[in-house]
Amino acid sequence: MSERDVNVVIAGGGFFGCTIAMMLHRRGLRPLVVEAEDELLTRASRVNQARVHGGYHYPRSLMTAYRSRHNYERFRSVYREAIVDKFTKIYGVGRLFSKVTANQFEVFMKRIGAPLKEAPERISKLFNPTLTEAVWIAEECAFDCSLLRDRCRRDLDEAGIPIRFGTRVEAAEKAADDNVVVRLSDGSELPAMLVINATYSGLNLLTGGSHLPVIPLKHELAEMALIKLPEELDGLSVTMMCGPFFSFMPYPSRNLTTLSHVRYTPHLQWFEKPGEAPCDPYQRFSQLKKQSHFEYMVSDASRYIPALRNAEHCDSIWEVKTLLPQTEVDDGRPILFRRDPLLPALIHVMGGKIDNIFDVEDELDAILALKA
Ligand SMILES: Cc1cc2nc3c(=O)[nH]c(=O)nc-3n(C[C@H](O)[C@H](O)[C@H](O)COP(=O)(O)OP(=O)(O)OC[C@H]3O[C@@H](n4cnc5c(N)ncnc54)[C@H](O)[C@@H]3O)c2cc1C
Repeated sequence: MSERDVNVVIAGGGFFGCTIAMMLHRRGLRPLVVEAEDELLTRASRVNQARVHGGYHYPRSLMTAYRSRHNYERFRSVYREAIVDKFTKIYGVGRLFSKVTANQFEVFMKRIGAPLKEAPERISKLFNPTLTEAVWIAEECAFDCSLLRDRCRRDLDEAGIPIRFGTRVEAAEKAADDNVVVRLSDGSELPAMLVINATYSGLNLLTGGSHLPVIPLKHELAEMALIKLPEELDGLSVTMMCGPFFSFMPYPSRNLTTLSHVRYTPHLQWFEKPGEAPCDPYQRFSQLKKQSHFEYMVSDASRYIPALRNAEHCDSIWEVKTLLPQTEVDDGRPILFRRDPLLPALIHVMGGKIDNIFDVEDELDAILALKA
């Protein structure tokens, strides 16, 4: 397909933008993907904890936990070449400062159908019992972001969907017949019947450029330490629930493990609010002095798992994490899927986690039915 035939412009070549392009292609539309960087899946879709959520993370948000469980097997099956599951996933509940008790956690997981098995002694003895109420083996896997990127690229190429790299979508403006004109950073303009704003942390750069209202968002500048686990913890991944705790997960594309901590992973946070000017998250990101919090993370986490003290810090990865402000209350991860109130042909889409992509599909169908 040539760019001249395009009738939908997708801003953002992350996992969401690429996958939405495929969804639209399967429904007979002709999308173009416009990506600011020189490669697909370089931002949040690469720099994340690589967890395919199985519902365990959200004991305070029934809807998110339930949807995660529902999407989990589907994600595993659709993206099986990118799935990594040769590790033992442990969930633990802290005794102090936890927002759930061990009993509440167990009851909740039963309710959403998330398997939990009592951890055997060889595992439970790794934990400090004074601080840890209970530990279980769960069923949760990781994804390899490089393999996911290769898959997205292959899908787009096979479908003949054009991609413009190194180009930003700067604005969308009303045109005749409910259509839009899309302005790109290379000076070109494209007519389209739909524009999908799948720019994640950059959502409001596009609303700002188009003189449209700001979407309320919360941003965090996040650090995940990349570590080599000590021998005693080899093949394990642990998430302590549910409060100011930590988690370590395989990061398959670098053959290392990420260590993140609820207190020390965010270095800075800010909100974008209606009525205020949008704030460029990429600029904030590039201005941040990246001084690692690894020492704080490991000092706290090794109070729970003493062997973690011997983890080797190899590197850190950094990205802007963007959340919907209402998730402050229950830590849920609903999707944002919003037709712009002033420009209905512009649709803003943001998933708080990778498997939210399946929740987007139904919403797209509803929009396309209206357009038909
Ligand atoms: C620190 C962190 C940890 C996370 N951990 C997990 C986890 O363990 N499991 C999980 O499921 N999810 C996790 N997430 C969330 C997950 O990464 C995101 O939900 C997902 O990657 C969002 O995909 P996306 O395509 O919307 O965003 P992105 O991958 O960021 O893609 C947006 C793209 O838009 C491009 N862009 C921006 N502005 C423009 C423009 N104007 N024009 C053209 N292109 C533009 C950017 O360059 C970028 O490539 C985490 C996120 C972070 C940041």
